[in-house]
Amino acid sequence: EPLIRFEAISKRYPNGTVALKGVSFSIASGTTHAICGENGAGKSTLMKILFGLEQPTSGRILIDGKAVDIASPKAAATLGISMVHQHFSLLPSLTVAQNILLGQEPRKGPFIDRRAARERVTGLAARYNLDIDPDARVSSLSVAAQQKVEILKALSRNVRVLILDEPTAVLTPPETEELFQRLADLRAAGLTILFISHKLGEVRALADHVTTLRAGEVSGDAPMSEISNAE
Ligand code: ADP
Ligand code: ADP
Repeated sequence: EPLIRFEAISKRYPNGTVALKGVSFSIASGTTHAICGENGAGKSTLMKILFGLEQPTSGRILIDGKAVDIASPKAAATLGISMVHQHFSLLPSLTVAQNILLGQEPRKGPFIDRRAARERVTGLAARYNLDIDPDARVSSLSVAAQQKVEILKALSRNVRVLILDEPTAVLTPPETEELFQRLADLRAAGLTILFISHKLGEVRALADHVTTLRAGEVSGDAPMSEISNAE
């Protein structure tokens, strides 16, 4: 049974744009799954629906075989679905630790226990081999470092599915290599990774399975092993 099944998902925006037309495919647990396609193909819309930022006009999503209503990002979080945004959503004036634990800080009576917070983030960073300074201000970090903070923020919240929207768009080649290594580690640890990409090279390097959207429809859906080098 797949972890996620999209069943005949269609999306029509209020202005009349039809972004998705009857999209159906499945995502297996513990795999790295790429969503490919040209600009405007509907990739972001589909991920926004999975993350509760948009609602489908028709169709449904099944998780572990059960239809779910993903009404908001909060509902997605409850289902273990987390998203690393292309445009980061971190609060620049807060520290790394404050951003990661926002809303779930350890407390000492009515106060945030800063030492426990720092220890928790240091432990998380070590566990996932993401090298970040818990006390740094987010505004002082490179985009690659901010992305690590976003990933760690997702991982601190019992995530089963990590969605990344064009994760390498803002990275240098060495940063991309490091990200791929970390994503491979996360997959090895059992996480399901869903990433949007239009770069064939990185899809080959990372994905177990590729679904391609074209003008709002599935135009390809196959394991990486079945995709020929000629494509
Ligand atoms: P993001 O935070 O990724 O920019 P948006 O929803 O603002 O998310 O935009 C996602 C994509 O959809 C962008 O490519 C944008 O140009 C397009 N888009 C957003 N709003 C509209 C609209 N009203 N009509 C047509 N395209 C839109
Ligand atoms: P992709 O991520 O593959 O580039 P999108 O899902 O962003 O594709 O967009 C699919 C289509 O929906 C495009 O025609 C885009 O302009 C349109 N679109 C995206 N967001 C909106 C929106 N908020 N309102 C209206 N149209 C949108």
